[in-house]
Amino acid sequence: MRVYNFAAGPSTLPEDVLKEAQRDMLDFNGTGMSITEMSHRSKAFMAVNEEANSLLRELMNIPDEYAVLFVQGGASQQFAAVPLNLMTSGKADYIVTGNFAKKAWEEGLKYGEANVIASSADKNFTYIPDVKTLNYTKGASYLHITANNTIFGTRYREFPTPEAPLAADMSSNILSEEIDVKKFGLIYAGAQKNIAPAGVTIVIVRKDLLGKQSPVCPTMLCYETQAKNDSLYNTPPCFCIYMAMLTFRHLKKLGGVKAVQQVNEYKAKLLYDFIDNSAFYTNSVQEKYRSLMNVPFVTRDAETDAKFVKEATAAGLVSLKGHRLVGGMRASIYNAMPVEGVKALIAFMKKFELENA
Ligand SMILES: *Cc1c(COP(=O)(O)O)cnc(C)c1O
Repeated sequence: MRVYNFAAGPSTLPEDVLKEAQRDMLDFNGTGMSITEMSHRSKAFMAVNEEANSLLRELMNIPDEYAVLFVQGGASQQFAAVPLNLMTSGKADYIVTGNFAKKAWEEGLKYGEANVIASSADKNFTYIPDVKTLNYTKGASYLHITANNTIFGTRYREFPTPEAPLAADMSSNILSEEIDVKKFGLIYAGAQKNIAPAGVTIVIVRKDLLGKQSPVCPTMLCYETQAKNDSLYNTPPCFCIYMAMLTFRHLKKLGGVKAVQQVNEYKAKLLYDFIDNSAFYTNSVQEKYRSLMNVPFVTRDAETDAKFVKEATAAGLVSLKGHRLVGGMRASIYNAMPVEGVKALIAFMKKFELENA
């Protein structure tokens, strides 16, 4: 039996996509072999690589002036790749809105002057700093932000508009809501939250930013090299790219990002409304900045939280334990979480409240 899986990442994938992958596992497209067994230079795989690329372009409305890359190393590798490719002036700005944002900044410090120009650490990352009153560093090469903060459950509702390129980690909200790619110099996202199994990372980079990497930038981290080789400089994570292609097809069939966003807003509203109307559960994120994807909440104490997680698991609602930095619970309700999953969670929460309030 399938459970409702609220894991923050790797996370639940659309059941249709998993079934298709299962069907293809022994014989992909009449080749008599699995996609995991064939050369990455084979016609069959090259077609997958191309389709994944063009579907993502279509779904996100990515202009031709941007390269779309499929790389490895996770979003964490991008924390280094960003300064190595883009920190041309030796300095860059960062906004610290959570754990991953802090890690990105700390990695940036290794390569030059990485300035924190705003942070929400003062209120335990329960909000996003005002993007209208930022003091950018003169000559900064880019501004790095984390668009959705997976652990703390916050998201940017509007984006900063620095003169320098805006670089955004969208690991936990890519394809969950419409964004205007033209506002960004760079977008990157690990696939394992909203797209595919762990192992592939999406990089969307404006082409005029290519070729300016540091002389010590490792070849594998160099965006220009990856772009010139259509992400096939070396063996790519073939299976993950194939799975990403299936998810992109699935999203297109659902009506694209606009349609998916509407469902995401509906799911999130159900859950936040329930929490806000309850005297038993609390979400402490400022309303305006609440994430559509990650919803942290607590009961009155850690003991009751632990009981909640245990009983929810037994009821087929799994991976609800909050991150150790926040405690309590976290429901990650990515694109692939059905509305029924959120409704089942709310029904369980009601029952638990009645029994434990
Ligand atoms: C999960 C996550 C990361 C880390 O991703 P890895 O692929 O494990 O390196 C970074 N940033 C955000 C916003 C995330 O949600």
